[in-house]
Amino acid sequence: MAWKTLDDMDLNGKIVLTRVDINVPMADGIVTDATRIARIKPTIDDIVAKGGTPVMLAHFGRPKGQYVAEMSLSHILPAVKETLGRDVIFVEKPSREALDALAIGSVVLVENTRFTDKETDNDPEMARFLASLGDVFCNDAFSAAHRAHASTEGVAHLLPSCAGRLMQAELSALEAALTTPERPVVAVVGGAKVSTKLDLLANLVRKVDYLVIGGGMANTFLAAQGIDVGKSLCEHDLAETARDILKKADEAGCEIVLPKDARVAWEFAANAKNEIVDVTAVPSDAMILDAGPASVERVAEVFKTAKTLIWNGPLGAFEIEPFDTATNAAAQQAAAMTKAGDLISVAGGGDTVAALNKAGAGDDFTYISTAGGAFLEWMEGKTLPGVAALG
Ligand code: AMP
Repeated sequence: MAWKTLDDMDLNGKIVLTRVDINVPMADGIVTDATRIARIKPTIDDIVAKGGTPVMLAHFGRPKGQYVAEMSLSHILPAVKETLGRDVIFVEKPSREALDALAIGSVVLVENTRFTDKETDNDPEMARFLASLGDVFCNDAFSAAHRAHASTEGVAHLLPSCAGRLMQAELSALEAALTTPERPVVAVVGGAKVSTKLDLLANLVRKVDYLVIGGGMANTFLAAQGIDVGKSLCEHDLAETARDILKKADEAGCEIVLPKDARVAWEFAANAKNEIVDVTAVPSDAMILDAGPASVERVAEVFKTAKTLIWNGPLGAFEIEPFDTATNAAAQQAAAMTKAGDLISVAGGGDTVAALNKAGAGDDFTYISTAGGAFLEWMEGKTLPGVAALG
């Protein structure tokens, strides 16, 4: 753990620049889900409790360096006030003088950092300006940590810096799952395509004991082994790549778990006519839309031996019933094992959160990351600039 936390910092009387992610969904000018705001509350509360003045820096949408009225953070100010349970002062053009004039413990929200290109360019001048506004930098936006921007990376080099509570929880969970995990470790990687997850697979085979491959991407691996997958989603041009990943797994002592049987259908639709077949007997006019019961049983056996689980991507076309069956069964088992104290389970990225919540399993996982791109890049073994700069 190379990064500091709020516990390591003296915040008394200090202005604490706090990078947060409050990209909440909105409809008709109203925030429809304030979860992201709720998740930064412990950080804001702690800073105030330690005598600091939190000055929140955040982006909202992709204004591409221009002022875009509907992407002003002023629209979400009421939700920020309500969710944090505090008065929050909105500042369009911050200055050190104005911030110094505020009562200690005031909470400030600065206008969208991406209203200038200097933010995404990680312009040193902008980083210096931001640093001049505060005494300490606290990054609580793990989900923006894979981007080296002025408010996530540049400024961190210019002030004493630490992780906020949410970032701390996220990094601790990720480190427990992949950096220093209790073994055996099983990774589940599903989803549509191999092509979007090549770096992920290459990194995981070096780090985990079992890699369960599911979803559409499993078809590419089956086809690469000479199995006819009929009309299934399959990247035939990646056969060589898939074989290479299997070879690397073998060399690293990682067991790859591919489906043995499948639920096939003749159309991609809810409640479409379907059959369970062995993967070697997929009808030429059908497509695999989920793993079958024998595959689920094998995954269950692997889970039972595991101490740590890391999961990205569904095992089938989980949005349409009954092709959510394998994903639901595996997710529920992982949740039950976690609840019983037998498993550390971490999941995240793209559709994974939706799939696990649909299975009713989300609440019982040890940690579910909503960070999307940052979670995936971390799983790919990449250095996240926003985290590295805290070191
Ligand atoms: P990803 O965003 O890569 O995690 O992929 C998630 C998507 O993969 C979901 O929309 C699933 O419906 C889709 N998916 C999973 N399994 C299959 C499959 N066997 N055939 C087609 N699509 C699938």
